[in-house]
Amino acid sequence: MNTAPDTTVYARRRKALAQALRPGSIALIPTAKEQVRNRDSHFPFRADSYFYYLTGFTEPESCLLIDSEGHSTLFCLSKNIEREIWDGYRLGPDAAAAALQLDHALPIEELEQKIPELLANHDTFYYPFATHPGLETQVQRWLGVIKGRSRLGQLAPTNLADACTVLDAMRLIKDASEIATMRQAATISAQAHCRAMRYCAQRLRSGQATFEYHLEAELLHEFRHHGSEAPAYNSIVAAGANACVLHYRADRAPVRAGELVLIDAGCELHGYASDITRTFPADGRFTGPQRALYDIVLAAQQAAIACTQAGQAFNAPHEAALRILTQGMLDTGLLDKNTVGNVDDAIASKAYLPYYMHRTSHWLGMDVHDCGSYQAPNLLRPGMVLTIEPGLYVRADSGAPTAYHHIGIRIEDDILVGADGQKSENLSQAAPVHADDIEALMRA
Ligand code: MG
Ligand code: MG
Repeated sequence: MNTAPDTTVYARRRKALAQALRPGSIALIPTAKEQVRNRDSHFPFRADSYFYYLTGFTEPESCLLIDSEGHSTLFCLSKNIEREIWDGYRLGPDAAAAALQLDHALPIEELEQKIPELLANHDTFYYPFATHPGLETQVQRWLGVIKGRSRLGQLAPTNLADACTVLDAMRLIKDASEIATMRQAATISAQAHCRAMRYCAQRLRSGQATFEYHLEAELLHEFRHHGSEAPAYNSIVAAGANACVLHYRADRAPVRAGELVLIDAGCELHGYASDITRTFPADGRFTGPQRALYDIVLAAQQAAIACTQAGQAFNAPHEAALRILTQGMLDTGLLDKNTVGNVDDAIASKAYLPYYMHRTSHWLGMDVHDCGSYQAPNLLRPGMVLTIEPGLYVRADSGAPTAYHHIGIRIEDDILVGADGQKSENLSQAAPVHADDIEALMRA
């Protein structure tokens, strides 16, 4: 994650957070902890999404305090020339306040000592519930310290509140800076999908043995080449029957002519995720049965995108997609009309579940499955971003006609809900989605 040069966007979000807190309250937002991968190797550090949202600061071992008056204090790593020679530059508390437009910055080593006096005499203490292991214990300890000072006139907060509920509602509606970054992330990912499709066809045409990891390497190349810090989640590159395993990883299976390849992959750019799925024929030509199912999934996706509009229920795209998918199951004989009845019967009895077992959408933002409520009534509002990702998965044990066995198809795009009365924007539209367009790209 790069620190964005424009710090005013974070100052604006902190101001909005302060206004959303109860009067007389204070909130603490820690960044993530560094994680050991094995022995003394660490996973690449990634800041906590809430913390980054409010600071744009990417150093580990830092923590933000902000009160309902809008006063902000950052705790961060002290300058240390020896550690900086080994681990890299530290901003340090002396420079941090001005650089990040905060009121104060203090060394993280002083956190334990300073926090009780900073929390004292606030009615409500907000912190992220159940997200940072050990934090609840720390909170109890700090409250205990303040209570021990009651004769000095210090009062401990009497209400504890989840900072996530306030921040989730803010993060659900993306601001202009977030939308610009998400548009860029989705475009990079769309280009990566194109690159993997072209490379796949090219290798198979030239008779080279091709494995799922070859295609994953193309995705990673494109992500990093355009400045993405990392994939937003583990890339799925699933050849043939592997596409029917929903959380399959890119692995070592061969990619063979005549089979489909399902790639679900997206880069993270400056803290924002993209999430795209494309399904394409390994050799660049859909077979009849593949094309028949592909066109059903595409029609379902288009119907779902058409109702991804401000004022619609969150569930509306899912219901639109489900109807077309289920009708398609009946038309192709995946479901037997004589057994399950018509499309309404099949939806009511959930007869579609063996072929479509997941939901059509999730929120997208800093986290791939982004924060934000899914509780009804949840109407889509301008600035929300959600995925639209219908699919069909035909396992050999499903009872479907043999011609469709081992076909797994999902098509996923990232949709920004437009202003009232305006069309929503498909952020990932640079990846071709019509079967003819995919074939044309792979021929080129
Ligand atoms: Mg996905
Ligand atoms: Mg998704």
